[in-house]
Amino acid sequence: MPIDPVLIFFAVLGLVFGSFGNVLIYRLPKNQTILGRSACPKCHHVLSPMELIPVVSYVIQHGRCRSCRKAISPQYPLVEIATGAIFALSFYSWGVAFPAFLLALTFWLLFLIAIVDSRTQKIPDALNIPFVLFAVLFAARTGYFSLTIPALAAGFFFFQWVISRGKWVGTGDILLAIGIGFLLTSTAQVVLWLLLSYFFGGVAAIWFLTIHKKTRKDRLAFAPALAFAAFITVFWGERIFAVLMPGL
Ligand SMILES: [Zn+2]
Repeated sequence: MPIDPVLIFFAVLGLVFGSFGNVLIYRLPKNQTILGRSACPKCHHVLSPMELIPVVSYVIQHGRCRSCRKAISPQYPLVEIATGAIFALSFYSWGVAFPAFLLALTFWLLFLIAIVDSRTQKIPDALNIPFVLFAVLFAARTGYFSLTIPALAAGFFFFQWVISRGKWVGTGDILLAIGIGFLLTSTAQVVLWLLLSYFFGGVAAIWFLTIHKKTRKDRLAFAPALAFAAFITVFWGERIFAVLMPGL
């Protein structure tokens, strides 16, 4: 099977966005400017262009800073590779460059939101608002634009927010649900997304409680479960329905 050069372009573009994503993950929660040169967080050595090539620099430098030789977190290349995969998958699924690019950007932001929430228990508006805007643009561009589905998706969390007075879910989760709602195309997809979210959230909660990293009083970040469930539903939802309900 010949490999589409546009697919390769998307994957490489994803690596570059992944690299920028690492900057956002690190700087946004600290309210630092996203402009300015990247430096080693340990010795503050300013990185040269040769040290900023996604994945390649990490491999060449054997995962260590060229100046202080301290280990670089594997999170950096992993975020780059995952973003490369998100971009390639978006193009593979849509085949048309512009909507695929919008979808890739949307899932790139969603991925960053999941990482920042799991690290800091907060969803920065600087990621959440662009995420919703790109989701709306994607829906408008692909003709699936509907206000009912996002209202349904977010209404479920808004209801919990009201009855728990903001204890079970945060306003960030509601905004996130609105954005995800624009990516879903049917009520059945909303149901699948909610079921998967609670399944992944439950598995994560059990895992955290059993390894004693958290107690029952801690707030567990829910954005990673919402994001991963949205990823599965958008890319494989229709295939899941075809297997579960072959008659439809
Ligand atoms: Zn260093």
